[in-house]
Amino acid sequence: MSPPIYMDSHSTTPVDPRVMEEMLPYFGARFGNASSLDHSYGHEASEAVEGARGRVAGLVGARPEEIVFTGGATESNNIALAGCMDRYSKKGDHLITCATEHKAVLETARWLEGAGKRVTYLPVDMNGEIDLEGLEAAITDRTVMVSIMAANNEIGTISDLEAIGELAHKREVLFHTDAAQAVGHIPIDVNKMNVDLMSMSAHKMYGPKGTGALYVRGIMPRVHVSPMVHGGGQERNMRSGSLNVPGIVGFGIAAKIAKSEMDGEAKRLGSYRSQMLERLIDSAGATLNADPRNVLPHNLNVRFEGIEAKAIINSVSDTVAISASSACTTQSVDASHVLLAIGLSEQQAHSSVRIGLGKFNVDGDSVIVVDAITKAVQNLMCVMG
Ligand SMILES: *Cc1c(COP(=O)(O)O)cnc(C)c1O
Repeated sequence: MSPPIYMDSHSTTPVDPRVMEEMLPYFGARFGNASSLDHSYGHEASEAVEGARGRVAGLVGARPEEIVFTGGATESNNIALAGCMDRYSKKGDHLITCATEHKAVLETARWLEGAGKRVTYLPVDMNGEIDLEGLEAAITDRTVMVSIMAANNEIGTISDLEAIGELAHKREVLFHTDAAQAVGHIPIDVNKMNVDLMSMSAHKMYGPKGTGALYVRGIMPRVHVSPMVHGGGQERNMRSGSLNVPGIVGFGIAAKIAKSEMDGEAKRLGSYRSQMLERLIDSAGATLNADPRNVLPHNLNVRFEGIEAKAIINSVSDTVAISASSACTTQSVDASHVLLAIGLSEQQAHSSVRIGLGKFNVDGDSVIVVDAITKAVQNLMCVMG
């Protein structure tokens, strides 16, 4: 039996074979430590890291020296939030974020509250968007930073980064965005979008797990963060520790590939998505959990009223890998905080399925998956009578 079709690309993406090929030598002969510059092994590793830094920077309109390599977007979010709130503690103690953020932001914000900082969690509308006037009203003289995600990992909502950043800058507040789901999938430009700090993750864009980056603006304004991992002073003392050279090399190649292929992929996957949505509405009574005009092209989050999402997912699991909500909450019975925040009831949230298309999906996949889901929904409706 062939493995199920993979459609859970918001939890992770497979490593592109071209990425893996470039990484392999760095597990073998090119094993040097990128900080050990007394010999050719170190130089080779360092050159590879700097090449990757340029490629990652090039994908998001940054300068290479503004890219800090980390162990992933979770760590980038922690450094951005905790590092800035500490570094700018003389300026203030207030952080603004929103209800639908990833746990890596929300839990860091909670931890900061425990450490005496104040946090505002902005609500979102039924499409998962914050209200800009609400944001403006929340900013005070004590506000240090605004952290709003670029694209949501459950319902795919894309934020108006440019407008949010402009507002933050008008009030001299830093703007951080968790762009783990956006970078490599939709165009992101840190200058055009007024971004000061931005979290990225390689494994959400066909690179390896355990590698990410934090963009930290170098000019106008030059942003500083207190280190959260202390040690040898690597990455301009913002993230100590010997660099994950193979991972970083892979991230760089993934960024290079994304830069040239992402527009075409967005069109291709967007058309699969529209076809799937239309057919799921017609044949299985699906309802979309977002505004179709403003979501990631490869995201489809739909609910089947009155039917348990888990039951659907289990009954199609031989055919397709899809999930109930974010990977981080799949172990818990709690309804998704994102779906509750957009106004769904607990029952509606538990009837929602997230489909994440990816570059290895082919034309026929969408038909197979829609058929499997439709059959499962019809069977489950019969069971419930
Ligand atoms: C996956 C994800 C993260 C965590 O990234 P890791 O690299 O796995 O730590 C953070 N934020 C969002 C929006 C994500 O989708």
